[in-house]
Amino acid sequence: DTTVRVRNLRVRYGPGEPWALDGVDLEIPAGATVAVVGPSGAGKSTLASVLLRFRDPDGGRVEIGGTDVTDYPADEVRRVVSGVPQDPHVFASTLRENLRLARPGAEDDELWAALRRARLAEEVEAMPRGLDTQVGSHGLGLSGGMRQRLALARAVLAGPRVLVLDEPTAHLDPDTRDGVVADLLAAARGFSTLLITHDLTGLDRVDRIYVVREGRVLQSGTHEELTTEA
Ligand code: ADP
Ligand code: ADP
Repeated sequence: DTTVRVRNLRVRYGPGEPWALDGVDLEIPAGATVAVVGPSGAGKSTLASVLLRFRDPDGGRVEIGGTDVTDYPADEVRRVVSGVPQDPHVFASTLRENLRLARPGAEDDELWAALRRARLAEEVEAMPRGLDTQVGSHGLGLSGGMRQRLALARAVLAGPRVLVLDEPTAHLDPDTRDGVVADLLAAARGFSTLLITHDLTGLDRVDRIYVVREGRVLQSGTHEELTTEA
């Protein structure tokens, strides 16, 4: 069971600080895609960092398949939950080595399967050196969208059950955003997926949307419910 349940989650960055998350309830049914949308400072990244186990809750809990994430050893959570950050690290090495970071020793056919899933296989096949293609540091030579899809392929190779996409369009120019989000969400099908965003890109493609502000959920519903209500 890969259902994610967030119950009355509270997080703050120090005693006396305001609550970055102030009693958040949210559920990602197994295999569903849920978006969390809200302005800067709403608490979205804080939520991602609790799921990815970079921070522990100050109150409430996050459960995956009924198990509290704080009951998993941190390195095991890294395998259960995998993230695609805003600006993924790409190392000055070959594509093969960049992919193998997520699963050392992975065979080429596993890497191709991950690339196909991330909608990146055709572009890599078209490169004269394929998986041996050398990329520059910070992904020099790859477009922003390719870096996101490479990070997604890497996240999938780690063999997770839950995916966190943290503002995947933040560093992309507006006309490529929609296509990249569509590719990422298609690749994420079947995982319990949390899409974090501050713009509206991709919201018509998710199963449920939570609107957050000042650490609280203001409303939630399907895209249709939220757009016809307004
Ligand atoms: P969002 O991702 O929606 O922009 P964040 O989760 O980054 O929101 O921030 C939520 C709140 O927590 C904000 O008030 C922010 O100032 C505060 N915050 C975030 N990170 C830190 C930090 N490392 N130290 C102190 N306060 C922080
Ligand atoms: P690395 O930087 O080598 O990828 P980290 O320990 O920083 O490794 O991160 C562990 C995993 O979490 C990686 O898959 C990384 O891409 C992902 N990650 C790191 N920060 C974030 C973030 N803010 N949102 C989503 N995923 C993240």
